[in-house]
Amino acid sequence: MNTTLRTDITVAQICEGFVYNELEGKGLFGLAGKLTIQPEYQRNYIYAKENKEIAVIESILKGYPLGLIYFNTVIGDGTKRFEVLDGQQRITSIGRFLTGKFAIQDANGMQQYFSGLAKELQDKILNTVLLIYECEGEEAEIKEWFKTINIAGIPLNQQEIYNAVYCGEFVTKAKEEFSNSRNANVQKWRAYVKGDVYRQAFLAAALTWISSAKGMSVEHYMSAHRHDKSIDELKTYFCSVIDWIDSVFTDVESEMCGLEWNRLYEIYHTTAYNPQEVHKKVQELYADSYVKSRKGIFEYVLGGCVDTKLLEVRVFDDAVKKIVYKQQMVKAKADGKSNCPLCSLGNDNNNRKIWDLKDMDADHVTAWSKGGTTDIRNCQMLCKTHNRAKGNR
Ligand SMILES: [Zn+2]
Repeated sequence: MNTTLRTDITVAQICEGFVYNELEGKGLFGLAGKLTIQPEYQRNYIYAKENKEIAVIESILKGYPLGLIYFNTVIGDGTKRFEVLDGQQRITSIGRFLTGKFAIQDANGMQQYFSGLAKELQDKILNTVLLIYECEGEEAEIKEWFKTINIAGIPLNQQEIYNAVYCGEFVTKAKEEFSNSRNANVQKWRAYVKGDVYRQAFLAAALTWISSAKGMSVEHYMSAHRHDKSIDELKTYFCSVIDWIDSVFTDVESEMCGLEWNRLYEIYHTTAYNPQEVHKKVQELYADSYVKSRKGIFEYVLGGCVDTKLLEVRVFDDAVKKIVYKQQMVKAKADGKSNCPLCSLGNDNNNRKIWDLKDMDADHVTAWSKGGTTDIRNCQMLCKTHNRAKGNR
């Protein structure tokens, strides 16, 4: 890879012919059309969201360095053209400011757009020289290198790196569907999938779900489908999972967001559920103050209300344990038996064994799943072995 450092290109030149695409949220061109700001393998513009674009302009006004910018040189039909390899976020911030897309605060605390700035401040920005490395090399080599760079303090996440490495028609189409905040479905997906649409959270989920259903890694799936013209399989599977959740659970609860819905779908989608009964059960568990893990409610209900571990049913506190321990000790001494009620029934040596508090656990006499409450009248202390054996809380 050959690199040339350019120190003669100003902000004014870079932003000549700058186009910002509101719909896709990206800066498109600069350098009078010779520069492609966001090639396919680049991620969407995220500085606006992260409030960093104002910081870029303030840095320029204070004369702070903006860091290195990398261009990939593309030679076609005799002219040299460039793609931004690293620096897209910074260039888009500057272009957006110059075209009046956002304002900064001046020394008097007033909001100022570029057009409202004093002439000398406008000139300072326009004449600022950016440090640019022009790189020339094989596509594979440049992409490999792109994989290793970070963009101005916001490192690429895993999905953004995959998008860069496996860029092509498939990724472009998949991003149109899953990384596009204008897609009306995004609102619905947010209920079940955590993360930021701009940072590829929904695309990452869709790819994770389909590839795991096919028993392969996301990388493997993306590489195998890199040149596909259709994303139907990806879209269909993702929608099947979402529609299934919608059909089983009539209410959307905040704890539903970010669950492993693809795993639950694979296990339970062939089971028939009555949505009204499911609704009733979920509401009941939401109202139950002993249920500590609301996230576990959905899998618990799907599984037929058996695996209470998923709910992390509230346990007895230390004060209750101490009181019950003392009561059992008094009785054990009087009877000459073990202080573990179950040990005391046995025929082995343990039937007279006195356990330390630290070697015992609290147990629900009547299991929680059978209506037993977590209060002192339903508490007994058992040795750890018996408590584990009893299992069901
Ligand atoms: Zn015992």
